[in-house]
Amino acid sequence: KIYYDSDADLSAVEGKHYVFLGFGNQGAAQAQNLRDSGIPNDKILIANREDHYAEDAKSKGFTVEHDFSKAAAVADVLFLLIPDQVQPRVFNTQFAPNLKESVTIVIASGYNVFYKLLNFSPKQDVVMAAPRMIGSSVRTLYVKGSGFPCFVSVEQDGTGNAHAISLAIARLIGATKTGAIASSAREETAMDLFAEQALWPTIIMAFREAFSVLKEAGCSDEALVYEMWMSREPAEIFERAADEGFIEQLKHHSPTSQFGQLSGALSLDGKSTKEWFQHILHNQACVLNGKFCKEFSKIEDDLEKEGPENPLNELYRRSEASELGQAEKRVRQRLAESAAKS
Ligand code: NDP
Repeated sequence: KIYYDSDADLSAVEGKHYVFLGFGNQGAAQAQNLRDSGIPNDKILIANREDHYAEDAKSKGFTVEHDFSKAAAVADVLFLLIPDQVQPRVFNTQFAPNLKESVTIVIASGYNVFYKLLNFSPKQDVVMAAPRMIGSSVRTLYVKGSGFPCFVSVEQDGTGNAHAISLAIARLIGATKTGAIASSAREETAMDLFAEQALWPTIIMAFREAFSVLKEAGCSDEALVYEMWMSREPAEIFERAADEGFIEQLKHHSPTSQFGQLSGALSLDGKSTKEWFQHILHNQACVLNGKFCKEFSKIEDDLEKEGPENPLNELYRRSEASELGQAEKRVRQRLAESAAKS
């Protein structure tokens, strides 16, 4: 089911006060979209600690509240737009105890709701409006008047009116202009984690190994990085796939390329990849068993650390040590040197 502007009745949210927890990627974009959709400034409050995000909100004409308990108390609609890993701590301790009974809580990602990490009370509405875009695009596409793809769902219908409220909110942030897609926190989480833990790692691995094989065959660093990604050809292929079709875009390539790609993909046996993908989805990405979520929660504090104690820094170090990572570094260094000389 896809919902458009005409499906969303704004009377469902008439007179409501909107609080945005967070003014980062999504918060800044969605708050501005909502205001430009006709919600007056005095009905919008930004809840943010006292720092540059708060300053940014003020510079854009918003009122900012640093005391989260005060912000919670005035919210009829609360947008949870801080990073997923900090939401449970901040929401459960500073917001949940002070919220109105019939507040609507809006999430932009299914993760914390699917894994039941947020403490809602039964009379509250919990709805999802999850843009499939980074925040800057959520804003620029709204300004252009073209809208952006977004998943919407009702996760808890405490008031009995959550569906109408969710569509009105989606419309106010600009998500129903090109069509908001009915989804769920479970589906959004499954697809997000699957892409992050199965699909993209497979693509990264394929690039890494392809690089290694071609390097062994005598190809130069420069030729390889331009052939494989710096020419932006892969980006162009995905642009055309979105516009014209995943398979159809191949027709822009030479007959040699079309023949090679189509026959090559059909002759590859995807069985072991499929088994690996199923393993990630069912066993590791914890759509069914929550394993990844539990493991990831354990390292949440470590992600704030500096240096090698931060597991993310260590993963970057190991990835950059690969042949592909080292070669790209050399190429970029040489490019910078020749740019400085010219
Ligand atoms: P950001 O990383 O941009 O969030 C930054 C905001 O969160 C700032 O206002 C920051 O303020 C606040 N914040 C960070 N840490 C804390 C803390 N410990 N306590 C209080 N506030 C904090 O988040 P995103 O906009 O990227 O993500 C928000 C939601 O949107 C998430 O659920 C995400 O999954 C979802 N989403 C994100 C997309 C994206 O492209 N980024 C795409 C679609 C959905 P300060 O540090 O000053 O307190």
